[in-house]
Amino acid sequence: MSSPTNRLAVEKMSNPTGGSNFRPTRTRVEAAFRTIIRWTGDDPNRDGLIETPARVARAFGEFFAGYSQDPAAILQKTFDEIEGYDEMIVLRGIRFESHCEHHMAPIIGRAWVGYIPDGRVVGISKLARVVEAYARRLQIQEKMTAQIANTINEVLRPKGVGVIVRAAHHCMTTRGVHIPDTDLVTSRMLGCFRADPLTRQEFLGLTS
Ligand SMILES: [Zn+2]
Repeated sequence: MSSPTNRLAVEKMSNPTGGSNFRPTRTRVEAAFRTIIRWTGDDPNRDGLIETPARVARAFGEFFAGYSQDPAAILQKTFDEIEGYDEMIVLRGIRFESHCEHHMAPIIGRAWVGYIPDGRVVGISKLARVVEAYARRLQIQEKMTAQIANTINEVLRPKGVGVIVRAAHHCMTTRGVHIPDTDLVTSRMLGCFRADPLTRQEFLGLTS
């Protein structure tokens, strides 16, 4: 493995005009996918594969679009005319697609996001967009679960937040130990969701 310094040097070299993020060009990415195809044992120049590197690069652009999204900014617009509403708000079963950072294999699952507002709420679609912004990155499920809860907690300042994520990891189901039909459940509870057993229980009841 190259050290971070070496990696930076390589990326800098590929982008001599500078730029703040040293992203390699699309041409270099497609060349890398041609190398991978050749490494698998196939011929990247045969008809069926000739367009594949460009397609895969576009697909990666979608899979990892979360890096160009700011989850905190998504939650900036809030509404405070809520007539004193102070009960739990739960968006259930938000479907997401992510990729594990160890194998770049799909993680397919759903997230349940709940909070108890403290004077202001966000549009519910924004909760789903926060999930998506973190999912569309290289992830481990535990970290993603914490990131979603922490961001809602820090930006919205609610009385409490609960996040539950349930997902199948293709690095486990289609390779390695090959155990299908398993899913991983992770959760992060903050504020009253952590401190108050009844609140936690109510949330868990809404997510099962
Ligand atoms: Zn993995």
